[in-house]
Amino acid sequence: MGAQDLIIRGAHVLDPGSNLDGITDVRLSAGRITEVGEGLRGVRALDASGLHLFPGFVDVHAHWRTPGREDEETIETGSAAAAAGGFTSVVMMPNTDPVIDKPVVVSGLVRRIERESRVRAYVSAALHEGLEGKRLTEMRLLKEAGAFCVSDDGLGTQSAGVLRNGMLYAKSAGLPVILHCEDHTLATGVVHDGVAAALAGLPGSPGSAEDVATAMALVLAAETSAKVHVTHVSTALSAALVGFFKVRGDITADTTPHHLTLTEELVSTLEGLYRVNPPLRPDEDRIGVGDALASGILDFVATDHAPHAASEKELPLEEAAPGFLGHETAFSALYTDLVQSGKLSLSRLIETMASAPGRWVREASGASGACGICPGAPADLALVDLSGEWTVRADALVSRSSNSPYLGRRLKGRVVGTVVGGEMVYDGIGAKFGARA
Ligand SMILES: [Zn+2]
Ligand SMILES: [Zn+2]
Repeated sequence: MGAQDLIIRGAHVLDPGSNLDGITDVRLSAGRITEVGEGLRGVRALDASGLHLFPGFVDVHAHWRTPGREDEETIETGSAAAAAGGFTSVVMMPNTDPVIDKPVVVSGLVRRIERESRVRAYVSAALHEGLEGKRLTEMRLLKEAGAFCVSDDGLGTQSAGVLRNGMLYAKSAGLPVILHCEDHTLATGVVHDGVAAALAGLPGSPGSAEDVATAMALVLAAETSAKVHVTHVSTALSAALVGFFKVRGDITADTTPHHLTLTEELVSTLEGLYRVNPPLRPDEDRIGVGDALASGILDFVATDHAPHAASEKELPLEEAAPGFLGHETAFSALYTDLVQSGKLSLSRLIETMASAPGRWVREASGASGACGICPGAPADLALVDLSGEWTVRADALVSRSSNSPYLGRRLKGRVVGTVVGGEMVYDGIGAKFGARA
C-alpha cells in the first residue's frame, strides 16, 4: 500500500468485461487499478456510495476542430467536454484545416495532445490527401508519426477501386480504416428523404445514399480482410448489411446517440440545429439501429462530436453546417431513452460505450495487458450518479460550442467524475481525491 494509493469506496462497480456488477471497493495506484474487493483500506479514500463506477467511455469519432477552427473547439475544450461526459479515450477525425494528411501535421498534433488533452486522444489521419479520394496518403509515414487509424470522414470515398486500394494500403501499413459511408450521387439533400422532408419542403437524401456506400465498403472489406470500422450507421438496412458481412471480414460498426434517440420529426422545426450527416431518420430506422446495437450486430456507440459556431447553426436548415455536439450528453441521453425504457440493459450500454470500443482501440494501438476494471489495467474510470437529473443548457456545456440537439431536454443519469490514468480529470461533485475519507 503506497502513499499515493486511492480507494474508491462503496460504488456499484459495473464492468461487463470483468464480470463485475455489485458494490465493492477499487484501489488505484500509480495510474493503475491494483485491487478490487470489499473492505480495502488506505489513507486516501473517495466515498462513492450511491454512485456507479464504470470503465471510462471510449469515443472513436470526434471532431475537436484543431487545427483550423479553434473558435469552435480546441484540444483543451474538446477533451474537457469528453471528460465531462465520462470519456477517457477519444479518436480525433482528420477533416481539419489543414487536413491531417501529412506526417508533420500528425506529429505536431500528437505533441499538442500530450500538452493540452485531459483524456487519452488518438489521431486519425486521412485515407486520401485532402480527403479527396484521389491520392492515397503516405500511411506508413503517418503511422510512424503517431497516426492511429485512417479515415476520409466528412466525405466518404466515392470510387470502389480507389477505396479498395486504400483498404489494401492501410492493411499493409497496419492501420484500421474508419469509413463514413455516403454516396454523393444519391446524397443530394440536406435531410432524410421522407415524410418530414416532404412536409417541410426540404430537399432529401434517401437512405440508399448510405446503404449503397455501406454495401460497397463491406464487400471490399470482406475481400481485402482490411481492418474496417463503419461509423455512424443510421439505417436499419445498413445495420442488417453489417450483420451479414461482419462474419466475413475484420469488420466492426458503430452508431451514434442521436440516431438512437432522435428522428426526422425534428426537421419540422426547420431549425438549422437539427441538420446532421447522416441525417436523422424515420422511427423505423431508429428502432432497427437500436435493435442491432442491443443484439451485438453493431459493436459500439460513437458520438461524432461535431462542434459548430452559432453562426453556422442558427440558420435555415438548408444553409446550416451539419453536426451535433456529442460527448457531454451521450451517456445521459442513452440512459434516459434506452435503458430507462427497458430497450437496452445498463450492462449492454456500458459494453457499447466502454468495453467494446476500448478493446478495439487497444487492439488497434497494439496495447497489451489487462483492461477494464481489474488489477493491472490503466485507471480510466467514469463515476456516474444514475439518479441525478439535469437539464441540457447551452451556457452549462463545457464544449466551446453549444449545438446540442438535446438543448432544453431533462436527462437522467449524470457523470460526476472521470479518472484518466489515476488522475481526476473531471470533478462534478467537488470530490477532490483524498478530501473525504
Ligand atoms: Zn461522418
Ligand atoms: Zn464525423
